[in-house]
Amino acid sequence: MVGAGFAGVECVRRLERRLSPGEAELTLVTPFAYQLYLPLLPQVASGVLTPQSIALSLRRSKKYRTRIIPGGAIGVDLASKVCVVRTITDQIVNERYDYLVLAPGSVTRTFDIPGLVDNAFGMKTLAEAAYIRDHVISQLDLADASQDPAERAARLQFVVVGGGYAGTETAACLQRLTHAAVKRYPRLDPSLIKWHLIDIAPKLMPELGDKLGRSAQEILRRRGIEISLGVSIEKAGPTEVTFTDGRVVPTRTLIWTAGVVASPLIATLGAETVRGRLAVNAEMNLPGHDGVFALGDAAAVPDRAKGGDAVCPPTAQHAMRQGKVVADNVIATLRGQALRPYEHKDLGLVVDLGGKDAVSKPLGIELHGLPAQAVARGYHWSALRTGVAKTRVLTNWTLNAIAGDDFVRTGFQARRPAKLKDFEYTDTYLTPEQVREQAEASVPREG
Ligand SMILES: Cc1cc2nc3c(=O)[nH]c(=O)nc-3n(C[C@H](O)[C@H](O)[C@H](O)COP(=O)(O)OP(=O)(O)OC[C@H]3O[C@@H](n4cnc5c(N)ncnc54)[C@H](O)[C@@H]3O)c2cc1C
Repeated sequence: MVGAGFAGVECVRRLERRLSPGEAELTLVTPFAYQLYLPLLPQVASGVLTPQSIALSLRRSKKYRTRIIPGGAIGVDLASKVCVVRTITDQIVNERYDYLVLAPGSVTRTFDIPGLVDNAFGMKTLAEAAYIRDHVISQLDLADASQDPAERAARLQFVVVGGGYAGTETAACLQRLTHAAVKRYPRLDPSLIKWHLIDIAPKLMPELGDKLGRSAQEILRRRGIEISLGVSIEKAGPTEVTFTDGRVVPTRTLIWTAGVVASPLIATLGAETVRGRLAVNAEMNLPGHDGVFALGDAAAVPDRAKGGDAVCPPTAQHAMRQGKVVADNVIATLRGQALRPYEHKDLGLVVDLGGKDAVSKPLGIELHGLPAQAVARGYHWSALRTGVAKTRVLTNWTLNAIAGDDFVRTGFQARRPAKLKDFEYTDTYLTPEQVREQAEASVPREG
């Protein structure tokens, strides 16, 4: 099993429950022994939640018996049934498997924009969220200390690229952070703080529909976030960003959330893909390879509820449910039974814009304001897998609502690079040829 996100954890938990220890040995390759509840990441970046409250330990379970290899899979050789793993101490290990479940999720989608990967922050990992919070607070500290008006203005401008739910929530939550924090900096002029949210698409979060999408835009505009649609980044530097409409924005903060692509692990298989995601059938089985399954953001799972060529969107909602079906299908393969196809009708979308602001569309019903916020928080809260995580999140929300934030930096990452290229390890993967060579090294030859 590769990956311990929404899909992987749901799958491994069910396998632990439904297979007896004598029936199968379970091995999980994952860099971290926690499942990250990604939809609440913007709330970690804005300090509403502590990082630990959305990192759900894999070892806190009565039925826990899986062997966890701390590392990342960097290649899979389907012919010799070997998964090549780089451990967190950089050792290369060949793991043989009988059955394989691939759930390594996705990485931030980048484009060939000069300076992007060296100068932009991502919002896909716990470390990135914690780092961004420190970074944003340090911009206020440095602007406050600066005697140079141009530097002060530049440090107080922030750019978020990506008008999907991840980017919109990130811009909204961080704007609230700076808006509240600036009150503790009497020397800073609050009107200097400027947040830009830009997207090449003509609408924010098109999944919400026209009315709710417009409502989200109005909320953000009212809060002073400048939204530019049909615009992207021409180039990015350490002290300024150039938009495709020609504007040059002096800033030290560029957050890039313009979509995701399947984990680079998928390309190492040399198998068919659909826009980078591994092509699987409705049972999430890789055609021609019984016992190999893929799901979640990394796989193109046919969306039977929509029909035609549609594939499931990369959402936690699908990944979790796919995890359960893949577990059942692994067990069915093991026991020689029939596999079942995956089908799920989208339940809608919830978008937390911080404080009392939210928009959501549960089961097609359009909500905004407090009812939408109640649905958004209620949904996420109930989706957290463990009681202790539920308690931590609820306590954090309550404490934040009552006492606010003290806007302190942890400082532990202060001098480390932490841009897109530093946190997602996209250059660690092997080519299909390198995987074959590495796998052959461990396969006993016949004769
Ligand atoms: C900021 C943000 C907000 C979001 N909000 C929502 C929302 O409100 N609703 C919603 O439905 N979805 C939301 N999503 C999308 C949702 O989080 C993903 O679709 C979901 O996490 C996909 O699940 P997954 O298991 O495929 O991947 P992930 O949950 O990303 O899990 C992948 C796991 O694999 C591990 N991994 C990666 N590479 C390797 C490797 N090579 N070897 C071993 N392990 C590896 C990772 O560390 C991770 O633990 C949001 C995403 C983000 C970033």
